[in-house]
Amino acid sequence: MAKIIIIGGGWAGCAAAVTARKAGAEVTLLERTDLLLGLGNVGGIMRNNGRFTAAEEIKAMGAEELIDLTDQAARHRNIEFPGHKHATLYDVTKIEPMVRNLLKDMGVNIRFEARAIDVKCEGNRIKSVLLSDETWIDGDVFIETTGSTGPMGNCLRYGNGCSMCILRCPSFGPRVSISQRAGVEDRLGERGDASYGAYSGSCKLVKESLSKEIIETLDKTGVVVLPVPPEDVNMDKLNMKVCQQYALKEFAENIVLLDTGYAKLMTSYYPIVKLRRIPGLEFARFDDPYSGGKGNSIRYLSMAPRNNALKVKGLANLLCAGEKAGLFVGHTEAIATGSLAGHNSVRLYLGMPLLELPHSTAVGDLIAYANEMLETTEGRRNRYTFAGGKYFARMQEKGLYTTNVEAVQTRIKRLGLADIYKEELV
Ligand SMILES: Cc1cc2nc3c(=O)[nH]c(=O)nc-3n(C[C@H](O)[C@H](O)[C@H](O)COP(=O)(O)OP(=O)(O)OC[C@H]3O[C@@H](n4cnc5c(N)ncnc54)[C@H](O)[C@@H]3O)c2cc1C
Repeated sequence: MAKIIIIGGGWAGCAAAVTARKAGAEVTLLERTDLLLGLGNVGGIMRNNGRFTAAEEIKAMGAEELIDLTDQAARHRNIEFPGHKHATLYDVTKIEPMVRNLLKDMGVNIRFEARAIDVKCEGNRIKSVLLSDETWIDGDVFIETTGSTGPMGNCLRYGNGCSMCILRCPSFGPRVSISQRAGVEDRLGERGDASYGAYSGSCKLVKESLSKEIIETLDKTGVVVLPVPPEDVNMDKLNMKVCQQYALKEFAENIVLLDTGYAKLMTSYYPIVKLRRIPGLEFARFDDPYSGGKGNSIRYLSMAPRNNALKVKGLANLLCAGEKAGLFVGHTEAIATGSLAGHNSVRLYLGMPLLELPHSTAVGDLIAYANEMLETTEGRRNRYTFAGGKYFARMQEKGLYTTNVEAVQTRIKRLGLADIYKEELV
């Protein structure tokens, strides 16, 4: 039986576990903390712009489970906010146990507080990974989905924050790059000024710290847009965002709040003194785990070189997905790449040709395009998401974007990819 070891239980690792299991493998998922979903425990925006199409592609290819859970956990559906249409907001306070139960029911062996710190290789094959409690875990094929945050210390080195508050590094130990331990050098994303890393486009406020009117509107409609006083509008900050889909002037000129269980504030960080000058936010407080008054989420510091089937270059039996596989932003993007890596892990074990999704699918096109762009300076300064920025523009130009579910299903069927992730290979 194929023994697949997945390192990192964010959305990408969970998606890989689902498809590797469906292909018939024995799956062990190693997660450093006591929670699945990593950065998926914040965020919550799904199905905005091209993510709608991508979600339907993932479902049509037979990996519907995680997309269905985010739909089930939705607090709001089909909402609009600046630059974004038909978004779903899943409840970030509810989703983790739902995913945990699904994986358990599917027979995934989840090991929490299992931090991989090293690997044993024979030639260019990984034989086993070493956990921080000094146990070795053997496997046939490994998938690295540890995200791209890089080790602790980057918060100070690269400025204004990191994701350690979300990923809780001090409690559970620092992050390690598995591909780098196996001898493959990590790649780094850049900012416009050639420094490394980038910030998330959002942080979160305690809902109860907002005015009664704002809470009521958030609960009812999911969105509140409040104008920022002209003297406080900071257009420069838009260039720092990971989430280029939110690097629109509307997000500098306004405070955009979304209801994801918390009040998601659509800016990288915002000085609390200025925030409290806005009517309704006089008592506003950032919620843990963000340091949202000063900064948050420096990522894209640890990416593995890989091909379009998501196999890491230079190693015979390591695949990668999610942010580890490139400059991808998003839950949908992590699920899309994780699903492919999980399926391909079983093909790799069996010596079958690996599946590469064609450019005529949004998922395949994103995976190949992001890889190609990583070779260029400009490309390393961009981030890739179905939800906006350069890639959503490309998706529209190529005619890949649609909200017609039937059209997506027909496209996937015509390409011979319908339910491909449901095929039991072993
Ligand atoms: C503040 C914020 C808001 C966001 N909002 C949204 C949003 O609304 N919508 C959206 O689509 N995207 C959003 N994103 C982006 C999205 O969350 C990420 O791109 C995506 O979830 C990344 O998933 P991943 O699985 O690749 O990595 P991660 O979520 O980083 O998961 C990596 C996992 O690996 C574990 N791990 C790391 N190292 C080891 C090790 N050595 N051994 C074992 N385990 C290890 C970590 O603990 C973690 O659980 C947001 C991100 C942030 C930071």
